[in-house]
Amino acid sequence: MQHYNYIFTGTGLAALMTVYEMILSHKIEDKTILLIDSDAKKTNDRTWCFWDETSLFEEITSKKWKNTLFANQNFKKNLNIDPYQYKMIHGVDLYEFIFNEISKHQNIYFLQKKVIDFSEFENQCLVKTEHNSYTCNKVFNSIYNPSIGTLQKKYPLLQQHFIGWFIKSKESVFDENAATFMDFSVKQDGNTRFMYVLPTSKNEALLEYTLFSKDLLSKSAYENEIESYIKKLGITEYEIIEKEQGNIPMTCYPFWKHNSKNIIHIGSAGGWTKASTGFTFKNVTKKSKQLVAFLEIDSDFTKFHKKNKFWFYDLLFIDVLYKNNAIGSKVFSGLFEKGKSGLILKFLDEETSLFEDIKVILKCPKIPFMKAFFGRVF
Ligand SMILES: Cc1cc2nc3c(=O)[nH]c(=O)nc-3n(C[C@H](O)[C@H](O)[C@H](O)COP(=O)(O)OP(=O)(O)OC[C@H]3O[C@@H](n4cnc5c(N)ncnc54)[C@H](O)[C@@H]3O)c2cc1C
Repeated sequence: MQHYNYIFTGTGLAALMTVYEMILSHKIEDKTILLIDSDAKKTNDRTWCFWDETSLFEEITSKKWKNTLFANQNFKKNLNIDPYQYKMIHGVDLYEFIFNEISKHQNIYFLQKKVIDFSEFENQCLVKTEHNSYTCNKVFNSIYNPSIGTLQKKYPLLQQHFIGWFIKSKESVFDENAATFMDFSVKQDGNTRFMYVLPTSKNEALLEYTLFSKDLLSKSAYENEIESYIKKLGITEYEIIEKEQGNIPMTCYPFWKHNSKNIIHIGSAGGWTKASTGFTFKNVTKKSKQLVAFLEIDSDFTKFHKKNKFWFYDLLFIDVLYKNNAIGSKVFSGLFEKGKSGLILKFLDEETSLFEDIKVILKCPKIPFMKAFFGRVF
């Protein structure tokens, strides 16, 4: 049976970013690494956006916005997100960029196969694909197991679910310099529903109809809303260039409890998705760095995760939204109408001090959050 030092089960964002950090660390020349994915990772299966104040992945960033907008039925506000810029990276560009780096290393292999099982025994791990088995010292798993979050009740599970259309319109209706984070002017129907608009030119944009809720909608329900939003923008003719859809888990479930000495769950499968927003990209860039640094000093993956105050804030947020799913518009409007946008983004990046946290938290509706707080503490 072929043996490797590290096997990555799943080779999406978290695995590629971790391997990239390993390459940058120059500490893996003596390690054999196998990446396994059922997909070849050669198509643009998603578009990532994130706010950032550095030159992270500058060479593959396809669009940057200095201005962002927030709207609901009553107001529309330009958000000053200084010192950040909102950035876009196409999935396929990141895959190509990292696979190109990987190709320079003869100790890293890629296998396009479906993983059917992995386990740990006597200080070694066994990974099974449909026709073969491999042993290794460490498994980095990013294959998400949806039943983990649903088979328990302690940590409610919401989904950030959406369908997005990248369109080219006849009319020049978009401000290519401003991305719309959240437009809550769409009907809420008892949920948290908003439109997310990423214009790349005056007549091209990605429009995503997004919900933070328990249950998915029918495909036509998302698409009808996108169509009526396009009409509302004054567009009479357009072409759909690309479509994307997603369903991102929003939960504070402690996925890391499933880590063992030699198996770590990474990416969404490891709880690296920010529960309150579904944003994962930025977290993955940070966690993959931390994981590679951790490996230099320790080898027991059960010691990797550290819970912080932001996990508890997110827990309250998810509790509030799970109990009263229609409150999302009010919560986000409260934050963005009066709060400093740059500070809110810093808070969501989990980089604020306690004093800054309080400034942000005080913008949220008090009663539901107090109830959630007492519910969790007592
Ligand atoms: C359409 C879409 C848009 C998103 N946009 C954003 C965004 O703008 N900003 C943001 O921060 N986050 C975004 N996210 C959330 C998050 O960043 C992504 O889901 C991200 O790809 C998660 O990384 P991951 O490594 O955990 O999972 P993935 O990147 O999904 O990687 C998991 C890999 O496992 C493979 N796999 C699954 N099952 C098997 C199996 N049995 N055998 C072998 N391989 C398997 C899959 O093919 C996949 O390549 C988006 C998600 C989606 C779906």
